[in-house]
Amino acid sequence: MSGRVRSVSPQQPDDVVIDVPAASRASVVAAIEAARCAQGEWWAAAPTSRSAALADVANAVATGADELSTLIVREVGKPLVEARGEVARAIAIFQYAAQQALDPTGEVLPREEALLYTQRRPRGVAGLITPWNFPAAIPVWKAAPALAVGNTVIVKPAPQATATALRLGEIVSGVLPPAVFAIVPGGSGTGADVVDLADVVSFTGSAAIGRGVATAAVGRGVPFQAEMGGCNVSIVLPDADREHAARTIAAAAMSFAGQKCTATSRVIVAGDDDGFTDALVAAVDRLAVGDPADHDVTVGPVIGPDAVARTVAAGRAASAGGIAQLTGNRALPEVGSFVAPVILDDPDGESLVANEEVFGPICTLERTANVPSAIRAANRGTFGLVAALFTADLADALTATQQLEAGLVRINEATTGVEFHAPFGGEKASSQGPREQGKYGRDLYTSVHTITLRTQTARGI
Ligand code: NAP
Repeated sequence: MSGRVRSVSPQQPDDVVIDVPAASRASVVAAIEAARCAQGEWWAAAPTSRSAALADVANAVATGADELSTLIVREVGKPLVEARGEVARAIAIFQYAAQQALDPTGEVLPREEALLYTQRRPRGVAGLITPWNFPAAIPVWKAAPALAVGNTVIVKPAPQATATALRLGEIVSGVLPPAVFAIVPGGSGTGADVVDLADVVSFTGSAAIGRGVATAAVGRGVPFQAEMGGCNVSIVLPDADREHAARTIAAAAMSFAGQKCTATSRVIVAGDDDGFTDALVAAVDRLAVGDPADHDVTVGPVIGPDAVARTVAAGRAASAGGIAQLTGNRALPEVGSFVAPVILDDPDGESLVANEEVFGPICTLERTANVPSAIRAANRGTFGLVAALFTADLADALTATQQLEAGLVRINEATTGVEFHAPFGGEKASSQGPREQGKYGRDLYTSVHTITLRTQTARGI
């Protein structure tokens, strides 16, 4: 990338949201050195002050919530209702982190003649590399637990979300002590600099980039986690409530134009269809496509012209291979990166959409004979982030929870949706390293030390 970072509104391509210089290697070095000083001098050793500061950050983000939601809509085209929900989640995460700052930092273990205990220590400076699709929530769900346990933080946001990240950074830095939290805008070079210099690395983004980040972190010997893509499955069993499953899956596949790592990309009907296909087509056709600032819109634009081209090409390749499109003929806004939601009738899951992450409003409808073959088909993929199953049968639900190869298994719920107090992460190509969020969030950001303490006068062993 050149020396500048630019983001453009996907629904209004002549609206340049921001155009700023990219952080140079020298400025990343300076930010990391300042963060390291701030961490060692005071922040790491001040848990009650950290707790109070993170509560103040939550309040400051709440004060700026409307402004941040509006900016998210404008910059990445996220529908307004979802943008508001994302900012509300960021606030809740900071509130949760304020309490986590006061969690126990170790445990005492039994031993004769000495005190044996563990102590978690912060790693130092956390380097966070984030994608554009959750421009507030993902930086926050990485930064808040890192800060709570005494690290300082440098965030390299995706260029498409630079304005949101910088505004969030101003709000957070305005409350925290100097150099505890910083945003370094830039492209992949700036991201590589952060990976090269931080004491711990957390990445969220595509599998292709994540594998490289993981390799770089391993090469340096620093702890890392990489949360990557998905090609998530929703399975519909013969006894499932057709209407509930159709409505839930339509939203999971198409809301925010399918641009969530947890979006449903494959729908598998096990056994008799019994009206499910018609219900799903009708549910997708009911979703409003258009201006994301409109309160009633569920499907806004995709992030830009490349994403339009990628999604349209995936649909065309499927059609060329004889796979029918069950939806997709509808009028779209004339300006902006809009794509009509597409369901592909792909019984054997042969299309690219069923095997790779397209990251647009497109999904497959596949068919299997029964529950075991549906689970086998679901597990065929290289990704393993989320799997959902729709059924009224408790035994089938329990079997699925044991057998589906996914980090998150959801029964009668959408693949989308993340609870900030529960661990989050995938299997196979979707994730590497420890889980994010909840109590698990601290595992990456602390190292555990084992301490034995005895007096010189204690009896020998
Ligand atoms: P991306 O292209 O992989 O980029 C992610 C971040 O990595 C960006 O900030 C990117 O900067 C940076 N980057 C690129 N090359 C780098 C390098 N060599 N070293 C360090 N950083 C580098 O992903 P995206 O398009 O922003 O986001 C969409 C992807 O994120 C999808 O695959 C989606 O599934 C995934 N995602 C996963 C989760 C999850 O929790 N599993 C959540 C949300 C999204 P540049 O863009 O400037 O290259």
